[in-house]
Parts: sequence; C-alpha cells; structure tokens
Amino acid sequence: MTGQETPPVGGEPDRRWTISDVHGRGSSPQKGLATVHSMLLQAADGSEFRLGRIDTSDGVEYKAEIVAVAEPRRFDCCPICLAPDPSSDEHVPPKAVGGSIMTSTCQRCNNRFGSVLERALVDWWEDAVGSVSLSHEDVRGVRKTSRVLMRQKDSGEFVLFLDGGAIDPEIMQSMMTQPNFAMTYSPPDARRYRLAALKSAYLGACLLIKSIPETPEAVAIRAELMEVRDLPPRTRPNASALCDRLSITKSQGPAVPGEIALVRTNPSDGGVPEFAISLSRTLMVSWPIGGYLVSVDDKGNAIGTVQL
Ligand SMILES: [Zn+2]
Repeated sequence: MTGQETPPVGGEPDRRWTISDVHGRGSSPQKGLATVHSMLLQAADGSEFRLGRIDTSDGVEYKAEIVAVAEPRRFDCCPICLAPDPSSDEHVPPKAVGGSIMTSTCQRCNNRFGSVLERALVDWWEDAVGSVSLSHEDVRGVRKTSRVLMRQKDSGEFVLFLDGGAIDPEIMQSMMTQPNFAMTYSPPDARRYRLAALKSAYLGACLLIKSIPETPEAVAIRAELMEVRDLPPRTRPNASALCDRLSITKSQGPAVPGEIALVRTNPSDGGVPEFAISLSRTLMVSWPIGGYLVSVDDKGNAIGTVQL
C-alpha cells in the first residue's frame, strides 16, 4: 500500500479533498448505516470520485420471504442467563448495526456482551479493522491510530479510511517526501462476531416464539453465551461448534430497526428452503434453536409455537 491510496490526509493544498454528499451514521437520516457509508470527494483540480462500501455482491440472486415478525417483549427472566426480573434495555441486533430495543436482559448480560463480543460484530459489519499501527522507515517505532474503514472507490480501487483519528505528525511529515509506509492491523475476530450474531439471533428466536426455549440447542446456546460472558477481560473465546454450524450473512443497510423476522430462504438452485432470522435487515442468521417454529395467523403475525 502507498500513501497515495489514502485520500483525505490534508496537508499540502494540492492534496486536499472536498467531501460532500456524506451518508453514514450520524450524518444521514437513514438508520442503520455504517459510520461512513458513502461520500463524494472532489480534488482541487475538479477530479472527483465516490467512496462507498465494498461491493460484496457475487451476482447470485437471493430471495427471502418473511414468514413471521416478532413484537418487542419482556420476559420474566433474562433470556440468556435466566436471572429474574431483567431490567436493562436490550437492542436486537446491537444499535450500531441497526437494532432497536426489543427486550430486556439482566444488567450483567447487557454490559458484558457489549464489550466482549459486539464491538467485533460492529467492526465486521462496517468493514473496519482495529489495533491499527503505522510505521515509516524514517520514524522510530510504530504509531497507533484509530480504527480504519475499508472502502471502495466507484472505479473499484480499495481505499483505507481513518475513522476519525489522525495520522501521527512525524509519520505524516515523512510520508510527504517518501510515501511508503507500513500498516499493521487486526481484522475483526470471527469467534467474537459470530458469537455476537448468535446472541442476537437467539434473542430474536425467543421473541418470535414468545418464550424462552428449552430445546437442546437453546440450552447449549445459553451455556455457551454464559461461559463467554464470564470470561476474564481480554480473554479470547474458544472456537464455537455452535457458531460454526450457523450461516451468518450481512447486508449493508439501511436497516429496518425493530424488524425481527423469521424468513424462508429459497435457494435459486431449487434446493430445500431453509429458515433464518433476519435482524433489522442488516444481519441474517440461520434458525439457531432447533425444533420450534412459529405458527402464523392470516395477517402474518406470529401466534405460537410448533414443535417440529
Ligand atoms: Zn442475564
């Protein structure tokens, strides 16, 4: 990677860009967008390009039909650890990926999962990398900076975009004369973001069936989430066979906050339809809790549970 690939670094006038038409969280009325979803950049010489999310479409038509939608619901106990009288508002999925308050969990579950798992889910969903350090041959040591968003120009080239941070002045100065620098970063931890997606899908399933399920799968999910919740800080969760079985996909928004839906996905190759949970239309996770399925009235509202 070279310095020329990093657009709005400021500094010399001829490298300054004007940013306009910004869409993203906090700068757009549309809910459930990444921190920077798209923007237009214009150079002093009038040349311009649009910066957007990475194009991940693989050309495959993917049809999902909504079978039932969930209503917000508060259970008598925390749906994750079963402690009585949960009192903390719980976003399903996390707010930063377009979720809204759908249920309550206990304070401990509510706090701990955010710090342990959900940050990784947000980074994965936003195409962000963290623990970013820059180094340059003319500067001693490495310099930490903010997380970096991976984005794509409308011409297809990839661009790394600092999320709010600044490049260390010494590195910046050296880059002006010698644009080669090195960057190290950590991609989002798949173990963590898949567990976060499992947690949201499990809560979505509880809402869809209007109860806390007792299937062997649900019992195993709760045991695994509890174990992760109680890990010492900064301890990496073990690989999860439960998570490895799940299909977890993302879309780039905008979100439909509050829409937790059971969907039937119809493979274009004519294979067997599968059931999945769509979370605010930003995440889709295969049905995680086994042998229950909601039944649906003629208006499409979920009305109860059916043992498969
Ligand atoms: Zn709990």
